[in-house]
Parts: sequence; structure tokens; C-alpha cells
Amino acid sequence: MKSTLLRNVRLNGQPESQDVLIEKGRITHISPAIAPPVQTEIVEGHHRLALPGFIDGHAHIDKSQWGMEWYVNEVSRDLPAIISNERDFRRHHEFDSQRQSERIARQAISMGTTHIRTHIDVDTEIGLRHVEGVLATKEKLAGQLYLETVCFPQSGLLGRPGTQQLMDDALGMGCDYVGGIDPSSFERDPVAHLDAIFALAGKHDKGVDIHLHEPGELGAFSVELITERTRRLGLKGRVTISHAFCLGEVDLPRQDALIRGLADMNIAIATTAPSNRPVPPYEKLRAAGIRVTAGNDGIRDTWSPYGNSDMLQRAMLMGLRYRWRQDREIAQALHAITQGGAEVMELEGYGLEPGCHADLVLVSGQTVAEIIANPPQDRAVFKAGKLVADRGECLF
Ligand SMILES: [Zn+2]
Repeated sequence: MKSTLLRNVRLNGQPESQDVLIEKGRITHISPAIAPPVQTEIVEGHHRLALPGFIDGHAHIDKSQWGMEWYVNEVSRDLPAIISNERDFRRHHEFDSQRQSERIARQAISMGTTHIRTHIDVDTEIGLRHVEGVLATKEKLAGQLYLETVCFPQSGLLGRPGTQQLMDDALGMGCDYVGGIDPSSFERDPVAHLDAIFALAGKHDKGVDIHLHEPGELGAFSVELITERTRRLGLKGRVTISHAFCLGEVDLPRQDALIRGLADMNIAIATTAPSNRPVPPYEKLRAAGIRVTAGNDGIRDTWSPYGNSDMLQRAMLMGLRYRWRQDREIAQALHAITQGGAEVMELEGYGLEPGCHADLVLVSGQTVAEIIANPPQDRAVFKAGKLVADRGECLF
């Protein structure tokens, strides 16, 4: 594999430019001026910012309609209606989850994403079709994107007999995490739901990532049950709660107690920073040592028409939602879409130091705050030192 010398880039938005030598897919040397070894390709960085490859810590690439005919959304807002509408859509439309997951993954790569944790629907109507589709995409794009997969009982586990077996099968096929969904408000039996998904995690030696949209005290109760099971089953450090709106809704003493439990069990939080719901208290979670990642959630599906897979745009939405205006506040959003995701996904060799994988994005701008406040479209994306996308286009 040919070496690459990236010239004149500003690592993590630092004012001074550096050269970065990449050998065998890893960063080997960083210095203000590096003499290129023989047979090294030289790429001029033009003093652009170099950031670690973006991480989408919560996605649903199996169901995106990116590149398909526009879906006219007429669904009401309650969760069971949205889920039932989605199943109905699939009964009446041909949907190729491999093609669609690849399309949205390529779009994400073109915007600078190098790692995605994606939740994949498993239910008694589609069976394992979406798992097969996403796993095929994972294999196909292995050189350009790291995909971590969560099998996800979107339509519920308890009310639809057979789903648990399908989840078991999905884990056997190679899914990395066990998913779950609102154990009280949607499943209506929190103990049974959580016991079932934690049993699957134990059986397959996998972690858990559970969607928790439940509000206030109901959600807080679920957080307690999840924390208890994490402790009892020895899954410390291997559980993520996605959304966790309730953490932003309960009163402060209650919030403090929940955060102590999460920190104690090293349970991570994934947020999409939604504009219409309370959000987990980002700074307080980080101060308690809790790992926090950000995600785009569904992009252009029957749930929501919004988004284009750009994690810088998600960082901007975080800044708006958390009312961050100072540059050092806004920089927290960059952490959420880079290092925070790496911590949650336990990635080896992530970052911009010698020894790390050369997964990085070059963007034009003066500072990190500027590119989050106004994400530029002109990006060059490197995966393992290879240029995989440039100016919004995948090169493969
Ligand atoms: Zn989700």
C-alpha cells in the first residue's frame, strides 16, 4: 500500500498547519514539515481543517428511502401509528434494504462519516430481510465505512410472537448489539421486555442498545431497570440508552441519582438532540464521565423526511438545541460526532495521533465553531489513508 503525505492541514482546527504522514492505513508521523519518503503520494491540504472521520452513533440505514420516489408523509404523530404505518408501507411496496442501506451509507461517506452504529428492524413480517440487506452492505463497503449493527424489534418483542427467535437468529448472523424499545409505554411489560433482551445479550455475549422515548418518571423507571440489569448481568460498559429524553425531564435530585447509576455502570447515551423533545443534559453527563454519542436517526423514511446524513449538520442541531453559542461550547458537538462516538463504539485507534487509523475529513473553514455553525459542502474524506470521497462524491 502506497504511503500518503498530507501537507498543510490544521489538525482539529488548530491555527498552525502540519504535515501528516500515512503509512499502511495509519498515521505514522505529524510535524510542521515532513520530507516525503520515496514512492509517497503527496496531497496538498491547503490549510484546511483535518478532523477525525465523523461517527453516526444512532442511525437506521436499513429503512431509508434515499434516492427513491419522495414519500408523501400523511401519518399521525403517535408512536404505534407510525410503526404500524411503516409495516403497512412494506406490505405494499417493494423495498430493497441492501440497495437502500448502501445508498444512504454512500451519502453519509460523501459527507465525511467513517463509522455508523445502525439499528436494523426485525419483525414477523419482514423477518431477517433487513438484517441480510445491511450485513451485505457492511461487507460491500468494508473498505470505506465501519458499520456496527443492532438488531432492533421495532414492532415490539412481546406482542408479536416469533420476534424473539428472529432476534436470536439475527445475533447468530453477526449483529453486534441487541436492541430494545420503550419497555413500559410501548411494550407495556418492562420487566419481561428487558429480561428478554438482556437474556439475548447474555446468550450471545453482546451489548445492548435500547431506544427509550418514554417521558419523565416512566422513562426514569426504565432507566433504573436497565441500570439494575446491567449490574446484575455483569454488562458494565456494554449498554447504551438511545434518546433518553426522560433524563432532561425529571427534577434535579432525580436526575442526579439516575446519572450516578449510569456512570457507575458506564452506560452510554446516544442523542439526536431533537428540537421537539427534552434532551439528556449533555454537559452534566460528560462531567459525570458518561460516554455520549450523537446520531442522525432515520433519514428520509416513513418516520421523517428530514436530513441528509451530514453529521456536521447534526452537530449544528446539537448546538441549537443545547443553546451553545460560545466557541468552546460548540466544540462539544464536534466531540459528540467524533471521540464521543468512538468511546461508545469502543473503536481502537480512532483519532488524529500517530498510531491511529487514518480516517479523516478535510473541510474548509477557519475554526471548528465556524464549520459547525455553517457546514461547508466541500469535503475530502479519507478511510485508512485512502481518499474515498471528494466534493460530495464517493470515489468508488
Ligand atoms: Zn432510532
